[in-house]
Amino acid sequence: MEKIELMYEGKAKKVYSTDDPAYCIVSYKDDATAFNGEKKGTIVGKGVVNNRMSNFMFKLLEKNGIPTDFVEELNDRDAVLKRVEIVPLEVIVRNKAAGSFSKRFGVPEGTAFKTPTLEYCLKDDDLGDPMMNDSQIIAIGAATQDELDSIAKYTLKINEIMIDFFKQCKVDLIDFKIEFGRLPDGTIILADEISPDTCRFWDVETGEKLDKDRFRRDMGGVEEAYAEMMKRVGLDG
Ligand code: UDP
Repeated sequence: MEKIELMYEGKAKKVYSTDDPAYCIVSYKDDATAFNGEKKGTIVGKGVVNNRMSNFMFKLLEKNGIPTDFVEELNDRDAVLKRVEIVPLEVIVRNKAAGSFSKRFGVPEGTAFKTPTLEYCLKDDDLGDPMMNDSQIIAIGAATQDELDSIAKYTLKINEIMIDFFKQCKVDLIDFKIEFGRLPDGTIILADEISPDTCRFWDVETGEKLDKDRFRRDMGGVEEAYAEMMKRVGLDG
């Protein structure tokens, strides 16, 4: 399958049409943004890490019964995906407090939760992706009750699969963001990406951050952290 026309360019990816309207090709860039686009930069090699790691995770999740949009990896930066209509929600799962949760609720970073938390944010950059509850989502029609039920069920299962997998990589999965899409028949499937851009990964032993927080917080060692995560999941070389 080949790229035909650039349909959409986001902060970290480009999406192209193909000769088959049921599929698109995503191309991962090295561009990085944070704080709703206020901070901009480049993380050399990030596009390769995110493409390969996301494809790997989607395959693992498919094997474990989660439907996803992944079709085929074309090369280091490009993959074929099923074309979906994105449900305009960022779905965030947390196993330990960090980032905006710590700030908003005054819970120190690293505090373990008794149970994972599930939160939704409306995907709207102009509004700063505001948090939204189930009744608000259904009221404005961003998703239906049935869709939210599927999303919540898949998301908690994805969290369990990911916790187990990353534990084997000596990585503590602190939190992550995922997105879902609708196939033309309305079926809900996992979409977008799972990568160090969208997850918080802490080394199990040292607590060292191996994700985009190094970029957000100007900690240095950003490229090294992405490369280390690639190694941890067994994708280097
Ligand atoms: N996240 C993301 N995209 C966003 C916001 C958050 O991928 O636009 C991820 C982030 O990397 C982290 C989790 O979602 O793994 C929770 O992020 P949080 O709400 O704490 O926001 P942040 O502190 O990252 O702004």
